[in-house]
Amino acid sequence: MTALLEVQNLSLEFRGARGAAPIPALQDVSFTLDRGETLAVLGESGSGKSITAKAVMGILPKPAAQVTAGRILFDGEDLLTLSPARMRSVQGARIAMVFQDALSALNPVQTVATQIAELYRVHRGHSRRDAKERAIEMMRLVRIPDAARRADDYPFQFSGGMRQRIMIAMALALDPDVLIADEPTTALDATVQAQILELLVEVTAARGMALMLITHDLGVAGQLADRALVMYAGRVAESGPIDALFDGPAHPYTRGLLGSIPGAAHRGKDLPTIPGLPPDIARRPAGCSFNPRCSYADAVCATTVPALLSFVPERAVACHHHEEVLADVPVGA
Ligand code: SF4
Repeated sequence: MTALLEVQNLSLEFRGARGAAPIPALQDVSFTLDRGETLAVLGESGSGKSITAKAVMGILPKPAAQVTAGRILFDGEDLLTLSPARMRSVQGARIAMVFQDALSALNPVQTVATQIAELYRVHRGHSRRDAKERAIEMMRLVRIPDAARRADDYPFQFSGGMRQRIMIAMALALDPDVLIADEPTTALDATVQAQILELLVEVTAARGMALMLITHDLGVAGQLADRALVMYAGRVAESGPIDALFDGPAHPYTRGLLGSIPGAAHRGKDLPTIPGLPPDIARRPAGCSFNPRCSYADAVCATTVPALLSFVPERAVACHHHEEVLADVPVGA
């Protein structure tokens, strides 16, 4: 059976000033996402998580970002081949996105209900009154207290957490098939973060939507996601069901990330960290991009890029030595 969303071998580069060499931002990225599923996209800053999401959403910064290879199949259609008008009909209505910063994504001079209602008026042709009723229903769905009374408030009159709920209400308004949430709680405090993420997972699951949750927080991913896609330097390092991947990471980078989650095994000790920093994508090391930071690296790693290969059903890894990694002592032991 084909997945609802299937990204196949996506490569993308940034083109700068005339004569400057293009910078490969994504290389050969492949993954799937199905209805009712939560996929956590993990990795450090600059790993390619957000640009992958923007490619799926069709909001790449043009003309700087150019897809050079691959397909983004959504419900059997390649989004990369759609006309701008056809793509606009997909955006919001079938694939929607929640961004990090609700304050800059909302219009400061319109009430929140007007902004949500606008979607129903433009996309569904609802009357002003019906659209507002629906907007209030959506505010209730995302648990904004006293929604009817707050409908005529402006974004600045809400707390950061409540604004992010309004962004989620807008993203869900047209009942999309896929919701992409890009670090949706970064600006919020820890308690509010947990509430918002739980709300996102609960509402998308109840509506049978697919959720692509971009995060650098492995704790969150472990609790909320069904599967994970681990990215490093614009490539997929590893993908698979979250439990299998957390119990037995096959890529040294995943292993390093998991080792740096605070847990009982580390109590009273310094948390291990991955040595070094991710590479500048304009100057990736030869061979496997992770090799300068990898304790498993050997000569082949310095010359040959590992392909992403499936090694058991539903799991894939891009590492020449994944069997050694899998056989190693459990993380945190
Ligand atoms: Fe490490 Fe080599 Fe695997 Fe890359 S291919 S992650 S350098 S062992």
